[in-house]
Amino acid sequence: MTSNPPKAIVVGAGPAGCLSAISLANLGWDVTIFERRRDLREPALQNAANGFSETFRQRSINLTLSARGFAAIWAIDSSIVEPLLKQAVPLQGRISLYCIGRDPLSAILVDKAASKDNVDVHFLHKVETIDFDKNTLHVENTVSGEKLDVKFDLCIGADGSHSVIRRHLLAATRMEYSQQYLSHEYIQIKIPYGLDPAGNPVSLLPANYLHVWPRGDSTLVAMANKDKSFNTAIFAPRSVFSGMESPEDLLPWFQSDFPDFMSVLGKEKLLAELRRNPRSQLIITKANPYHKGAAVILGDAAHSMVPFDGQGLNSSLEDVRILSILLRRAQQASAGPSHFGHNAAAVSRVLEQFSENRHDDVTAMSDLSMNSHYNLRRGFATFGYVIKKYIDKILYAGSAKGAGKLTLSDLKENIYGPPPSGWMPLYNMVSFRADISYATAKKKAASQDRLMDRAGMAIGLLAVGYALRVLFL
Ligand SMILES: Cc1cc2nc3c(=O)[nH]c(=O)nc-3n(C[C@H](O)[C@H](O)[C@H](O)COP(=O)(O)OP(=O)(O)OC[C@H]3O[C@@H](n4cnc5c(N)ncnc54)[C@H](O)[C@@H]3O)c2cc1C
Repeated sequence: MTSNPPKAIVVGAGPAGCLSAISLANLGWDVTIFERRRDLREPALQNAANGFSETFRQRSINLTLSARGFAAIWAIDSSIVEPLLKQAVPLQGRISLYCIGRDPLSAILVDKAASKDNVDVHFLHKVETIDFDKNTLHVENTVSGEKLDVKFDLCIGADGSHSVIRRHLLAATRMEYSQQYLSHEYIQIKIPYGLDPAGNPVSLLPANYLHVWPRGDSTLVAMANKDKSFNTAIFAPRSVFSGMESPEDLLPWFQSDFPDFMSVLGKEKLLAELRRNPRSQLIITKANPYHKGAAVILGDAAHSMVPFDGQGLNSSLEDVRILSILLRRAQQASAGPSHFGHNAAAVSRVLEQFSENRHDDVTAMSDLSMNSHYNLRRGFATFGYVIKKYIDKILYAGSAKGAGKLTLSDLKENIYGPPPSGWMPLYNMVSFRADISYATAKKKAASQDRLMDRAGMAIGLLAVGYALRVLFL
């Protein structure tokens, strides 16, 4: 145990907040988490029928956890990986990609954080404001109404897309900030498991797959749960939903555009789901810098992106890995956590490094996710896209894949590895190579694309030349 440990406050017990708390506790800090919601592990909140808690139900979409996210978790605390794997469903045909419900993921991370002697978790405590000059948070106990002033040596704002810490940073710094609501909205729909003749649960869709129904502007995505049910989300432009305000209004549209989905779920169950789950917005936020003094934002608070590459969570967990490396290096260079943590200027320097390190990468990922939004809706079906992906695969197969790759242990100490050599599809770099930054992946994929376009053009010109020669000579 550290004597006179520095004090960190984490705002938000989502995945990024919990992993941050675990990381700081492992680095010798005293950590307090404030979370405005209830503890989702409380038995009264559990809905035995579907495994979702009441408070979280409306956002209980499944999340894909890729090698990038796992590497971050492993680097912070490898003991979390095993319980996660027990709750996650491996997705076939997508190496090292797992799907996990938001609730089981959060429960495992909250459990781990709360099991640490130097972590206190306070649910139903809403952070209202932050004073950057006095390093103080103003917090309300939403049950008793009591107001608290809490001092910190480091504050991590992991309070999601509508972050209160970001709002105060925006007012207190020269932050560049943009916010955009996507024209698409989404509705969550649960497909329950069926029962076989012996009464055992069975999946109503082929299990262990990520199912995607692209329909031009609209897309339906289904991800498997451990109990053989599926969590699905339908994404469609607001204009499609407008004029279809009641669940009954939506039925003909489902019937005409997603008849196979309708036949699996049935009209009554679909109606019940549509009545239960409201339409939700997708928001993209970009901010720079992420810090002021001893306070920093990370995860969705710093960068909300559209979910079409499944990297929102993975990038948030990677934020924690990178901040943890920077903090550990600074602590090692200073005489340990107490010496470092009580030195406000030293803490601020590390947060500045985090902002500088992270901004270009997460912005690159956010932009890539928007491209995937387009591809998911239309591009997958185009001939050009299919051909390009095929060539991508062939070139990758002939490439030296592992050259220069960092091991998991390396990723505890190193932010990224050397630039990758050989040919590598963008998807592999983004999801499965935690040693490659998003910005590097985006740049390399763009240069590979240009090469492919040039090669395609050269082949086209040769073909035209040959045809002319045959016709006229
Ligand atoms: C439809 C959809 C599908 C997605 N699919 C994927 C996917 O497949 N893969 C993937 O990687 N990502 C996915 N994401 C993104 C992923 O959900 C987020 O990136 C991730 O949850 C971010 O975690 P976080 O901890 O930063 O924020 P959050 O999970 O939003 O947690 C923030 C926490 O802060 C708390 N809080 C907020 N304000 C306060 C306050 N004032 N005081 C105290 N507590 C507060 C909140 O209650 C919450 O618990 C998806 C997102 C959506 C919307």
